Amino acid sequence: MSKTHVFSYGAGKAEAKGADLSKNVLGGKGLGLMEMTSIGLPVPAGFTVTIQTCEEYYKLGRKLPAGVEKEVRLAVAKLEKNTGKKFGDPNDPLLVSVRSGAARSMPGMLETILNLGLNDVCVEALGQKTGNPRFAYDSYRRFIQMYSSTAMGLSKQPMEDMLHKMKHDLGVKTDPEIPAAKLKELCAQFKDFYKQNKGQEFPQDPYQQMWGAIMAVFNSWEAEKAVTYRRVEKITDLKGTAVNIVQMVFGNKGGKSGTGVCFTRDPNSGENVFYGDYLINAQGEDVVAGIRTPLKLVTLHDQMPKAYDQLCAVRAMLECYYKEMQDLEFTIEDEKLYMLQCRTGKRSPAAAFSIAVDHATKPLLSKAQANDLVKKGYLPKKWAALAVKPVITKAQAVCRLSSDDIERLFYPALDTKKVSFQALKDARVAGGINAVPGAASGKVVFTAAEAEEMAKNGEKVILVRKETSPEDVGGMHAAKGILTATGGKTSHAAVVARGWGKCCIVGCEGININYDAKEMFVGGKTIKQGDYVTLDGSSGEVYIGDLPLKEPELPQSYHTILGWADQIRTINVRTNADTPYDAENAVKMGAEGIGLCRTEHMFFDTEDRRLAIQEMIVAETLEARKAALAKLLPIQREDFYGIFKAMNGKPVTIRLIDPPLHEFTPKDDAGFEKLSKITGLSVEKIKHRCEQLHESNPMLGHRGCRLCITYPEILDMQVRAIIEAAIKCAKEGLKVYPEIMHPLTIEKKELQILEKQTRLVADKLIKDAKVKLPYMVGTMIEIPRAALLANELAEVAEFFSFGTNDLTQMTLGLSRDDAGRFLPTYVATEKEGGKGIFKADPFQSLDQNGVGMLVKMGIERGRSTRPHLKVGICGEHGGEAESVKFCVRVGMNYVSCSPYRVPIARLAAAQAAVEAGKSGAKKSAKKSAKK
Ligand code: PEP
Ligand code: MG
Repeated sequence: MSKTHVFSYGAGKAEAKGADLSKNVLGGKGLGLMEMTSIGLPVPAGFTVTIQTCEEYYKLGRKLPAGVEKEVRLAVAKLEKNTGKKFGDPNDPLLVSVRSGAARSMPGMLETILNLGLNDVCVEALGQKTGNPRFAYDSYRRFIQMYSSTAMGLSKQPMEDMLHKMKHDLGVKTDPEIPAAKLKELCAQFKDFYKQNKGQEFPQDPYQQMWGAIMAVFNSWEAEKAVTYRRVEKITDLKGTAVNIVQMVFGNKGGKSGTGVCFTRDPNSGENVFYGDYLINAQGEDVVAGIRTPLKLVTLHDQMPKAYDQLCAVRAMLECYYKEMQDLEFTIEDEKLYMLQCRTGKRSPAAAFSIAVDHATKPLLSKAQANDLVKKGYLPKKWAALAVKPVITKAQAVCRLSSDDIERLFYPALDTKKVSFQALKDARVAGGINAVPGAASGKVVFTAAEAEEMAKNGEKVILVRKETSPEDVGGMHAAKGILTATGGKTSHAAVVARGWGKCCIVGCEGININYDAKEMFVGGKTIKQGDYVTLDGSSGEVYIGDLPLKEPELPQSYHTILGWADQIRTINVRTNADTPYDAENAVKMGAEGIGLCRTEHMFFDTEDRRLAIQEMIVAETLEARKAALAKLLPIQREDFYGIFKAMNGKPVTIRLIDPPLHEFTPKDDAGFEKLSKITGLSVEKIKHRCEQLHESNPMLGHRGCRLCITYPEILDMQVRAIIEAAIKCAKEGLKVYPEIMHPLTIEKKELQILEKQTRLVADKLIKDAKVKLPYMVGTMIEIPRAALLANELAEVAEFFSFGTNDLTQMTLGLSRDDAGRFLPTYVATEKEGGKGIFKADPFQSLDQNGVGMLVKMGIERGRSTRPHLKVGICGEHGGEAESVKFCVRVGMNYVSCSPYRVPIARLAAAQAAVEAGKSGAKKSAKKSAKK
């Protein structure tokens, strides 16, 4: 990057070259103006003061760096040469606009000043030169207004009031009806007001105006609204704004002039139509401010056909150049078109997909349309040839979309057309961690049981808990949304809710729940059970009231893009699913197998199951425990049968029981009593047993495969249920391919014991049933020791699945349930009030340097023993785009994630293949995985 502060452009040439021709130097607007100039579009000449100058300005305590003034004067001289006019010329003055332009669009946040260069003398000259004094004084009064408020900090309202009074006194409604003499009077009133408030005359020297305007744009970078906007939009990587100084062109010169904003395609539907609005005899601010109702762009064709055709040619050239839908600003001065801005346009979730598909499959213009514009002399042949072909490849279309684009398609959202910004602001009562996106509204309920009850009666409810435990699953499922006071993005509530794609906000510390009074205190308000709240799981905001939502519809273009992604990607995508319903849903989302079926989730589904597992835990003898397990066997067998059926031959990885025993035990007197009745044990005894099971560090306690080491009868029951279900399928002619997985193993000997027992049970059943039933036995890698000794584990395990939730927890020594309380400080940047220690939450996006090193090592070591070891991931990271790409790079065979994240993983896996320069090798990966 050069040390130059100012780059000029005009007459088809732009000065910025190489590394300087970048958004980070020129800002989005400056870059667009330079590029449009270079490709021969009609752009008024100008120059750009760089973003680095803004950075230096702040370093110097809001002072322009040395040399900038000289460079600006030089650029003005070039501009004068390009335009044939002189800055401050009393006969024919050069006027400029001064606009902000950061590297990313911050609509309406930064400042703009138009008509700079006007003063008491120049305004007269402008009037004479154009033969339109009304236009000259209208331009002057606009400049005084903008300069006074933007550069000099005066309130806008008093001048607006003066303008309003003038119209009132004249008995007119609109600005264009005010005659020149009255506008001149208004300018005098404005200048008096300026003098009264600033103690000096309104600046008449154009260069003094110029320095004031440049600094005003720089200052707007740190103005409160801009700082807030960046915080809300999580924009942390920008260093400042550039300043664009451009020769003024006038849309307010009369009936043959105008100004407009348009998109090269419809940004709502994505349809290939030229879409936009314009105003005759107006300046840009009039369109944006919405004071006058703009006209539809198509009518420009009748009003100014030449300008319209020229604009159509610009549209084609810009889409071909940027290979993206553009958002354009233009001005027409005396029927001559000028382009003032172009940038990649924001679009609706559905349009994002349809535009990408169209760009890869259809041309923007038909041959007839292109020929017509060529014949009229507006579209050079070279561009016409490009405009009649698709502008990108399918792989480029796949790479253009992001996981956010997919998520935005799926979830219901707040219908912001039906609720005003102000109403939304007033309704907000708290904010938490946005664990699962989408929006939900319903009646607040504080217990899972009541949530189920109310939902049964057809009510929509929001379950609000301090935290959720597995016992709440029923209520969580019944609720439209879940709100918890504690927890992070991989806490129980978040993991379970994500599995269902259910709106969920966790770690909302602003809520104070009083379970006894059935109410919560939040944002200074008391919300009682039955009151309505609305959750926006995408932003983490909690609102009081039943706000309107809109349901998503999946466009065909979404299926097309994901179909292309499937052809490109090289690894499989599976799902984490615990029920036949989830499995079916995941298959619809494109899952190619189950990578994790958490069997303990099945124990919690109904009260019968919960009681049976509790009976098993409190059992005092082996016989009693076996009797309890016998009750669970048919239930589990039925579940597995349903899952195998839903997956119809696709591989299904079933993990044996995992969580600590105390998570299963009853928590209150009613629970103790129920269990006492069933088991015949006294309430006291049950309580005592539950206390015994309590652990100080349950995450590091008696969990995972340690349960089956100490209670092998659990393993026997679960393996039996799996294999019997598979045998039933096989006998019915259904394909079935179970993979039995042991969680949290730490040592080869441990896995050997489990594997031996698993095979003993499974092989006997298969032999007795006289069926052919291939199955595999493998392990999760969730503990650093397992990754380090992966070569030993692979002697026993036929496959590995990286449980990166636990692996992250254990490697970083951070609790996955509680780290959400302080992780925001680690992740937020200093500017956002944090410390910027991590780039991202390691429980969401894999810590590739640390945990990733263990994953990589685990795979290498595992495959050093067993070259065709099948490897996957089933932690939450399996559905996060960057982590999926990492999994592709380290050679996994598949990723597995919640059903609703399957499309995200499919897309990210394809993008990783494109980034690595290979695609379509999926079949070979699949083959090696099966070996
Ligand atoms: C993991 O630890 O990554 C995992 C998938 O298991 P769980 O979340 O059930 O502990
Ligand atoms: Mg785990």
